[in-house]
Amino acid sequence: LIGKKADKEGYKVYGVGGFVRDLLLGKDNLDLDLVVENDAISFAKSLKNYLNGKLKTFPQYQTARLTLPSGKHVDFATARIEYYAFPAASPEVEQSTIKQDLYRRDFTINTLAVKLNGSTFGKLLDFFDGAKDLKEGIIRVLYNLSFVEDPTRIFRGIRFEARFNFTIEDQTLLFMKNSLITGVLDKLPGEKLYEEFRNVFYEENFMDALMKMDEIGIFENIFPDLKLNENKIETISIIQDILQWYEQRSYNKSVSKEVLIFSCLFYDQPAPIVSSLSERLKIPTKIREVIFTTINHENYLTKKLEEDLKNSELVELLDGYPLETILFVLARKDNKSIKEKVYYFLENLKGVGISITGEDLKNLGIKPGPIYKKALEEVRKARLDGIVSTSEEELEYVLD
Ligand code: ATP
Repeated sequence: LIGKKADKEGYKVYGVGGFVRDLLLGKDNLDLDLVVENDAISFAKSLKNYLNGKLKTFPQYQTARLTLPSGKHVDFATARIEYYAFPAASPEVEQSTIKQDLYRRDFTINTLAVKLNGSTFGKLLDFFDGAKDLKEGIIRVLYNLSFVEDPTRIFRGIRFEARFNFTIEDQTLLFMKNSLITGVLDKLPGEKLYEEFRNVFYEENFMDALMKMDEIGIFENIFPDLKLNENKIETISIIQDILQWYEQRSYNKSVSKEVLIFSCLFYDQPAPIVSSLSERLKIPTKIREVIFTTINHENYLTKKLEEDLKNSELVELLDGYPLETILFVLARKDNKSIKEKVYYFLENLKGVGISITGEDLKNLGIKPGPIYKKALEEVRKARLDGIVSTSEEELEYVLD
């Protein structure tokens, strides 16, 4: 359909980048990346009604995004050359041809293109030996200043390496390291840095990616004491296991991976350093607050969990904490009794409710007021501790 429309209106259209890469790897890719010679926005506009999508255009970059009813995206870029005014700056855009467009991409495996219209429909364009690198599992940069121009590519390379179990080619690794030494990350705004960290965390195999980040000196580069040590590596790998366990349980509350991993990276740092690192990485306030709670309350929670606790006391202790804080304690403490209590809380206690309601209290002739809340709380405690188990027993308990 896209090809036919392009033929009719005189555009040259190519499927490019991650879309072609994942197609050749036999993996799903939700987004379709298109490059259009010579005007992506007007082509996207003409496709909008055809595909019944919602269109967003970005004239300053000559790009557009069409969101289809299925939720999938079609991204349109105009074939162009980018001139970087200075490292880490937004690119100036100028129209050009597909080869030049592909040359400005991050890695050879992302430079493959498929012609989607015209007489050469279906032809694979491979100007930079991307297919060979894809076959051999190699992440290779296109030119030596690539990471200086755009340091986010360092993170992208590490992600692809971990995701596909590929290898970053030696020279490319050297370019990455050298760019870090020259301070490219200093020029990256906090928001971008945060986004790149987050993208790494949400890779399934984030452990390997974090190890690589450490190996090439990213953590040290941001702050010397951020370098991974054995304790942190162990905690992060336990977190990976806990997250897998949690996902298998398919609880309906999702876990913020970034809270857990940032907590691992920061927990041994003094509070002012944690604050300034959070500021440097522009961690959003809500996430930051949970990280602080997690780091600051870990010791208190551990001490309390060492005590003998009734079920109701365990619930009272843990219920007020974010899930991430509880999972972090689980990851950090190699203490059998603490682990058992936390697992017991998550699996058996957290969701326990009661049968009776305020309406039942009213029927008992109790006057509405703050006492209702207190009474229902007490009933829940009794239920948690096994004192009551039916609604009749709950009512009797209230009357007692
Ligand atoms: P992911 O699966 O993580 O989304 P992707 O490569 O499939 O990665 P995008 O991040 O949307 O998808 O990127 C689409 C394409 O745009 C890439 O395949 C690459 O060719 C190009 N690209 C994206 N970011 C950069 C960058 N920082 N520098 C150069 N090219 C880039």
